[in-house]
Amino acid sequence: MSGRLTADLAAFFAECVYPAEAEFAADGGTGSIASPVLTRVRDEARRRGLWNLFSSLHPARLAVGDPETADLAEIVGRSPVIGQVALHSLNPDATVLELLAALGSAEQASAWLDALADGTISSAYCMTEPGVASSDPRSLRTRGERAADGTVRVTGVKSWCTGADAANCEILVVLALTEPDAGPAGRYSLVLVRRDSPGVAVANRHDVLGYSDAYRGGHPDIVFTDAPGELLGEAGGGLAAAQRVLGPARMLHSMRLVGTAERALELMTGRLRSREVRGRPLAGNDLWIDRVRRADRRRIDAGAGPGDGQPAGPRDGGIDRQGGGARPGGGDPRPGDAGARRRRPFRPRHPRRPLRPRPVAAHLRRPRRSAPAGGGTA
Ligand SMILES: Cc1cc2nc3c(=O)[nH]c(=O)nc-3n(C[C@H](O)[C@H](O)[C@H](O)COP(=O)(O)OP(=O)(O)OC[C@H]3O[C@@H](n4cnc5c(N)ncnc54)[C@H](O)[C@@H]3O)c2cc1C
Repeated sequence: MSGRLTADLAAFFAECVYPAEAEFAADGGTGSIASPVLTRVRDEARRRGLWNLFSSLHPARLAVGDPETADLAEIVGRSPVIGQVALHSLNPDATVLELLAALGSAEQASAWLDALADGTISSAYCMTEPGVASSDPRSLRTRGERAADGTVRVTGVKSWCTGADAANCEILVVLALTEPDAGPAGRYSLVLVRRDSPGVAVANRHDVLGYSDAYRGGHPDIVFTDAPGELLGEAGGGLAAAQRVLGPARMLHSMRLVGTAERALELMTGRLRSREVRGRPLAGNDLWIDRVRRADRRRIDAGAGPGDGQPAGPRDGGIDRQGGGARPGGGDPRPGDAGARRRRPFRPRHPRRPLRPRPVAAHLRRPRRSAPAGGGTA
């Protein structure tokens, strides 16, 4: 790790963020970002100059290069629930903030930029749709009709609109089809819609593995019915603008996950050292030695994990990548291992005989019989 900012952030996490995790969990973790625990941590982040750390609005951002940004993101990922909230770097606000700063008109900036940067209001980014494969944005259907008065009337359904249920969510950035006659890259625009506009309704709320994420405004679907909005940036520039902010956001997301994995590894090894089972520390147990080996730092750094399709190396204990189980000792699977059985190529129990045309001469030699059921030839 390098840099003053990295040291400051690590100190903030050690002194304020990690200690707050248990308190937040004791709250049931169901509170909101405005809970007393999170408010205290966020106030401390402001005091230390770490608020909006990952935003282009932060004074230190220009001086921080990519390697230090990666270190910073890794620290944030070490506290998956509180880290981003503490620094106000949680999406979608972080993304919408960048979009407003880069593309917003003077009126839009004065209406929302400062309030969003300060955390007084929050936002949601609405791109995904339930009925289409949204990883290909050219398939998105929500329409934005551009009216003569300059407004854009939005109609369609968006899903997984993270944050849209937050009490202070005031703006929705919607990716809508506004230029249907343009080429594929120029058909979509970003449209700013007020959350309390007529024609904006929550339809459904998604959980992630049983967690509602209500504390950060959940992940609802939103139905837009002729909802009034205004262009953010130029007409047809929606996909380019989205890519401009979502690309870096994905990189930061990946770096945070490295930090999350590092923390999990530390927690696991700490527990193994401190826990005794049947008079022995768990750290000396073969099964756990094998599991720690499989979770080693090189694999975290490489972003690898069971199921990544790579052959098992000698240090990872011979993972059965098909079945997810571990075989102490490593090496190739023995015949009879569950993994070895699964890897055998599939062969049907009653293979069909290949269909070959019956030689003409055979027809001539014997009288033709009716073909067996299934149309077999012999
Ligand atoms: C917790 C959470 C929060 C979210 N928040 C938001 C939000 O705030 N705003 C928002 O708009 N959306 C949000 N989403 C939705 C998310 O962005 C979409 O799920 C994502 O864009 C993929 O779209 P899809 O679900 O339609 O998958 P599909 O497009 O149906 O893709 C299905 C699968 O195909 C794979 N795939 C696609 N293309 C390829 C390819 N070329 N090669 C190999 N595999 C491929 C995908 O990886 C995926 O596994 C959120 C999702 C989650 C889980």
